[in-house]
Amino acid sequence: MNGCDLIGLDKAELADLMALLGEKPLRAKQLWHWLYLQGARDFGAMTSFAKSLRAHLEGEGYFVGRPGTVRDLQSVDGTRKWLLGFADGNEAETVYIPDMDEEGGALCVSTQVGCTLTCRFCHTGTQLLVRNLSAAEILGQFLIARDALGEWPTPTDTARKISNVVVMGMGEPLFNYDNLAKALLILMDGEGLSMSRRRITVSTSGVVPMMRRMGEELGVNLAVSLHAVTDDLRDRIMPINKKYPLAELMAACRTYPGLSNARRITFEYLMLKGLNDSMADAKALLRLTQGIPAKFNLIPFNPWPGAPFETPSHDSVKRFSDYLFEQGFSAPIRRPRGQDILAACGQLRSESVREKQSLSKARLAAGTRDDTEHTGQRA
Ligand code: SAH
Ligand code: SF4
Repeated sequence: MNGCDLIGLDKAELADLMALLGEKPLRAKQLWHWLYLQGARDFGAMTSFAKSLRAHLEGEGYFVGRPGTVRDLQSVDGTRKWLLGFADGNEAETVYIPDMDEEGGALCVSTQVGCTLTCRFCHTGTQLLVRNLSAAEILGQFLIARDALGEWPTPTDTARKISNVVVMGMGEPLFNYDNLAKALLILMDGEGLSMSRRRITVSTSGVVPMMRRMGEELGVNLAVSLHAVTDDLRDRIMPINKKYPLAELMAACRTYPGLSNARRITFEYLMLKGLNDSMADAKALLRLTQGIPAKFNLIPFNPWPGAPFETPSHDSVKRFSDYLFEQGFSAPIRRPRGQDILAACGQLRSESVREKQSLSKARLAAGTRDDTEHTGQRA
């Protein structure tokens, strides 16, 4: 290792680095504290380090990385959205959603620029370029939010502004599992950011072969974007269903490690007018998930320009929700937050896309692939 971002390295890698510089193992521990307890952003702040060590680290080209903040928007409802720029010019969005009635809030992070999947209702799936975010870029979203919310040093109790992390931004997290796992293990480390695994939820479109592994290795909460109760409809709206159909997806859910009534899978159910919003669908949904410790999250479709779906009426969504509730399940309706700053599900990046449209057209005409355009959505 010669010159690199210290963010995103795990403890063993930091120990190797200090050994390489001829330093004692204790220094690696101290460095970890500076990065993740204190939120230090440069070596000057690391006052327990001798000046010579700070100079050595800097001289070797090490640095404490943060994504650049291209834009920082705040909604009237308190939702905040950062458009982050990475070293290669790619961008992704991160959204902070404060709780309405409590102290904390959820941070929605992205795992990819764009998404290789092409779910018909999702704006992200219409974008050309996809690349995985690195562990540093995933973790960097959390660090930027903590910087902006002024939440350093890391609070010792659970009363935090960022009380929950939801991996529901752009991209399919389980297609970038290694980087996601590395970032989340750093996030959960008890000597640093110490975010409890019970306060982290990863949403997948149903990458069946990776689900058990995530449960075993990370123990985080699972959310599954179900959205349809038949293979016929799910095939049509979520192409991944052709690879991992409902029977396989449900089997993977049933065996997700650590499930109990206190620890349920969240089934996200996007509601599309006339397609999956009937009472028969609600009943079929309960049959499909029977026996799985489950809760539901109903998401009325958030339209975007050119989308081939409509949002169901509030009444039909309410009827659906009431039925699940009567049957003993939690089934809140996810209300769009931050709509004035285009931060709701399916809206991320659409503003930037519009702004960049002429630029991207010019690039396409010139035969170059535009790798800056993508949209995302969040929970
Ligand atoms: N790729 C992962 C995580 C990101 S998507 C997944 O699909 O689960 C986060 C949630 O937003 C998913 O449940 C997704 O289906 C939903 N979503 C996508 N487009 C939407 C739209 N236009 N309106 C409402 N929800 C949308
Ligand atoms: Fe990708 Fe999720 Fe959007 Fe589907 S819903 S295209 S998996 S980000």
